[in-house]
Amino acid sequence: MNMQSIGRPTRPQTASTDVSAEHAQGLLQTEPLIFELGGWDKTGVDLPEPERGAADDLGDLIRAAPIALPGLSEPETLRHYVRLSQKNHAIDLALYPLGSCTMKHNPRLNEKMARLPGFGDIHPLQPQSTVQGALELMDGVAHWLKTLTGMPAVALPPKAGAHGELCGLLAIRAAHEARGDARKRVLTPTSAHGTNPATAAFVGYEVTEIAQGPDGRVDLEDLAAKLGPDVAALMLTNPNTCGLFERDVLEIARLTHQAGAYFYCDGANFNAIVGKVRPGDLGVDAMHINLHKTFSTPHGGGGPGAGPVVLSEALAPFAPQPWVVKDEDGWRLEEHARGEAERGFGRLSAFHGQMGMFVRAYAYMLSHGSDGLRQVAEDAVLNANYIKARLGDLMSPAFPDGPCMHEALFSDAWLEGTGVTTLDFAKSMIDEGFHPMTMYFPLVVHGAMLIEPTETESKAELDRFCDAVRGLAEAALGAGSDVAALERFKVAPIKAPLRRLDETLAARKPRLKWSAPS
Ligand SMILES: *Cc1c(COP(=O)(O)O)cnc(C)c1O
Repeated sequence: MNMQSIGRPTRPQTASTDVSAEHAQGLLQTEPLIFELGGWDKTGVDLPEPERGAADDLGDLIRAAPIALPGLSEPETLRHYVRLSQKNHAIDLALYPLGSCTMKHNPRLNEKMARLPGFGDIHPLQPQSTVQGALELMDGVAHWLKTLTGMPAVALPPKAGAHGELCGLLAIRAAHEARGDARKRVLTPTSAHGTNPATAAFVGYEVTEIAQGPDGRVDLEDLAAKLGPDVAALMLTNPNTCGLFERDVLEIARLTHQAGAYFYCDGANFNAIVGKVRPGDLGVDAMHINLHKTFSTPHGGGGPGAGPVVLSEALAPFAPQPWVVKDEDGWRLEEHARGEAERGFGRLSAFHGQMGMFVRAYAYMLSHGSDGLRQVAEDAVLNANYIKARLGDLMSPAFPDGPCMHEALFSDAWLEGTGVTTLDFAKSMIDEGFHPMTMYFPLVVHGAMLIEPTETESKAELDRFCDAVRGLAEAALGAGSDVAALERFKVAPIKAPLRRLDETLAARKPRLKWSAPS
């Protein structure tokens, strides 16, 4: 771009951007925002003046005011982002025990495949004859997902688990409406992930909670009492967010179907059962699969993700368009035929889904094979039970009877009287070099601490983690009325780039846009 003709970017009015108040810690650099770094009177690149003035081509569209972006050189830019990246925890640094999130290693083979030009450099508007391999790969992903779940159809477009829930509930609503039986309510258990009731409400349903028994599983009597002719669907996570398999799932499906409702399964925890259990055999009508959890595609920090939804025979006609099909001319994306389009709910997103995630997930599926995927589930469950066993004598397992699935859940009962809260304990893990576990979720367990190691951790790393947590737990339990000994929990983290943040304010009044300090 010709900087001369649009004027150099001028620095927005800012107060002093003196960041020297904070100092680098060791090799960890402090880093201001890119806008505060400035470089307002320079650009990172030198481009020759165009032969003709830009106005010749742009006419009225020529930019009148400066664009107000800072100009940094390549090394400045690189350092900025590398410094920022070092402020965060990453799965490539250490165990990332966030329960329900399935933070597992992202194999580099997947990355290599996703960068092949035939996958990485294509465009969704390219003629379909030029992307035959990519379409075939999408069909391969669909085939594996259908085979692993025992379901006849899959919608690939959803871009995340929550988006998959939206897809599933829109298909369910379309199916009810096609029968002239619009229903009003969706049931979710108290332990449900927040996205379940949020999705149901977004689609326009009223949400009714169903209770859980003392064993952490759906209370069948409460479910039966709340099912009725106005219930559109039950949304159930299995294994559930307490890390437990819903043993009565067949009965749950039977009761749901008997009431004319659909059984939506939140499949975010598929990692625990992939290759072992086919949700289609359990009576599930729709289930999203988080490729970024079970199938190892990278996530965190809000994306990217992919949440394909497998659908039963009854819901398949209501899937969003397009589908990948093959005929004598090769692979292509098919849209609903006219007339048929009125049955489904149309498109869920502009194109066909997250191609980069499909390639990574497919590489993961093919490199593991079905035996390998079964072992993924077995090792994920084994690792979680190892943690439950190693920490269970000090901390309070929320459901001590029997093994857990892929995550170990503790309540804060063991901290009672110590003055240390779940939040204090989780924050103090940062000072030990570990990302905290999921805390205060699921809501049904008081002061919950939910630990999911995933199958990609070795015994040595699990031990390193358990030793650190045990050390902290012993310190919390042994502090007694020793105020100084409690202090480390109250002020933690002290070794992180930022100390304790006001999480309520961050959630209620997020500042998502930089503006010049006034
Ligand atoms: C992660 C998760 C979701 C939401 O998935 P996103 O991909 O983050 O939108 C829904 N339910 C459960 C149980 C989850 O763990």
